[in-house]
Amino acid sequence: MRVKESAQEGPMNIWEMAQKQLDNAARVMNLEPWIHAKLRECKRASIVSIPTRMDDGSVKVFTGYRVQHNVTRGPAKGGIRYHPGVTLDEVKSLAMWMTWKCAVMNLPYGGGKGGVTCNPKEMSITELERLTRRFTSEIVDIIGPERDIPAPDVYTNPQTMAWIMDTYSIDRGYATPAVVTGKPVEIGGSLGRNEATGRGVYFCILDALKYFQLYPEGITVTIQGFGNAGSVAANLLYREGCKIIAVSDSRGGIYNPMGLDLPALLKVKNDTGSVINYRDGDRITNEQLLEIKTDVLIPAALEGQITEKNASRVKAKIIAEAANGPVTPEADAILEENGIFVIPDILANAGGVTVSYFEWVQALQAFFWSEREVNLNLRDMMEKAFWAVVRVKEQKKVGMRLAAYIVGVGRVAQATRLRGLYP
Ligand code: NAD
Repeated sequence: MRVKESAQEGPMNIWEMAQKQLDNAARVMNLEPWIHAKLRECKRASIVSIPTRMDDGSVKVFTGYRVQHNVTRGPAKGGIRYHPGVTLDEVKSLAMWMTWKCAVMNLPYGGGKGGVTCNPKEMSITELERLTRRFTSEIVDIIGPERDIPAPDVYTNPQTMAWIMDTYSIDRGYATPAVVTGKPVEIGGSLGRNEATGRGVYFCILDALKYFQLYPEGITVTIQGFGNAGSVAANLLYREGCKIIAVSDSRGGIYNPMGLDLPALLKVKNDTGSVINYRDGDRITNEQLLEIKTDVLIPAALEGQITEKNASRVKAKIIAEAANGPVTPEADAILEENGIFVIPDILANAGGVTVSYFEWVQALQAFFWSEREVNLNLRDMMEKAFWAVVRVKEQKKVGMRLAAYIVGVGRVAQATRLRGLYP
C-alpha cells in the first residue's frame, strides 16, 4: 500500500506509515526517547531463499521473510501470508501492528509476521507443501513455542499450519503442536478458532452499543466482505436482534433497508458463491455500501477502503474494523471530525489472535477446553480490552485508534522499562 503524506514529502511507504503511527502515540505519551527508538525498529528480520521443486521437475527459488518486531512481553506472534505482493516492508509493518494488537489484548506475546512472495493460486497443493516445508526448515531455529509462533494469514490455512508443525516436530524429534496456531482441531487446534475474529468483532460492537446506551434490537448494520470475519459477525449480530441492511463480497453488494434474512443469505452465499444472488434486496456496489445510512459499519474485506475521497460521505455512527487497515490515516482524521466512533483493527479484530493464544495455552498444557470455555474467555478478554481503551480515550480526550495505541504501546514500553536495556 502506498499513501501520500503531503505533496512536499512524497509517498510514504507502509513501514514509514507504521512508524509514524507509533511516533504519534509516543508524542502524546511523552515516551522516553530510548524506548521510542527501540520500538521504532524490528528486533530481527530474516530473509531466506526457498528453493522449491515444482511438479514439472524444475526448481523455483522463492523469497521468504520472518520478522520479529518485539519479544519483550513474550514470544513473537503473527501470521504467515503467501502473496505475490509480499515485501519486507509489508511484513515489518504487520509485525509491528501485531505487537500493539497483542499488547492491547494483554496477551503475553510480542509481534511477528512472515510471508513468502509467491502466487499460491498458480501452485498445486504438492508445490505448496514443498514450499511450506522448505520455508519452515529455513526458519526452524527462530520459531518455536517459546520464540515465535506463526499462524495462518492471507492464502495460508490450517493445512499450511499442519505442514509447519510437522516439519518443525520432525526437526525437534517430538510432536510440538504449540509451534503454530490455527491448526486443525485433530492435531491440537482449538475449538472456536474459526469463528473467533467475527465473534470478537461482535463483542466489541455490543460494548460500543453499551457505551452509547443503546440496545442491539433494531440497530442497523452494514458489512463489507462476507467471508470468515464478516459473515460470523453478521450472524451473531442478527441473532442479537440487529437489522443487517447491507452486505457485500468481491462481486458486489445487496441492500434492503427493512433488513436481510441472514439464514437465507448465508444459504445463497454457500450455494452460489456470492451474496449478489440473494433476491430480496437491491444490488449496490461496494462503494455505495460504504455510504449507506447505518448505525454500524463493519469493513471486513480489504485495507484502504475508506479514504480521504469517500470518508466525508460515510454516515455510520460506529465503524468496527474487522479488516486490517480499512481506513487510511487521512480518512481517519475526517471520521473523527465527524464524530464517528471507530473501533480500530488492533482491538476489533483481535479475537483471532486471542483464541490463538488459547490454542497455544491448551497445546502447552495438553489439556483442551470446551467451545463454551473458549467463547466465555474470549468475551472476558475482549471486554477488558475494550473498556481499557475507552478509559484512555476519555482521560486523554483522543480518538479510539490513538487510545488503543496508547494502551498497547504503553504496555510494551512499561515492560521495556522494567526489563531495562542490556548490557
Ligand atoms: P475471507 O477471505 O474469508 O473473506 C474476505 C471477504 O471479502 C470475502 O467475502 C470476499 O469476497 C470479500 N472481498 C474481497 N474483495 C472485496 C472487495 N473489493 N470488496 C468487497 N468485498 C471484497 O477473509 P477474512 O478472514 O474474513 O478476512 C477479512 C479481513 O479481516 C482481512 O482484512 C483480514 O486481514 C482481516 N482479519 C481476519 C482475521 C481472521 O482470523 N480471519 C483476523 C484478523 C484480521
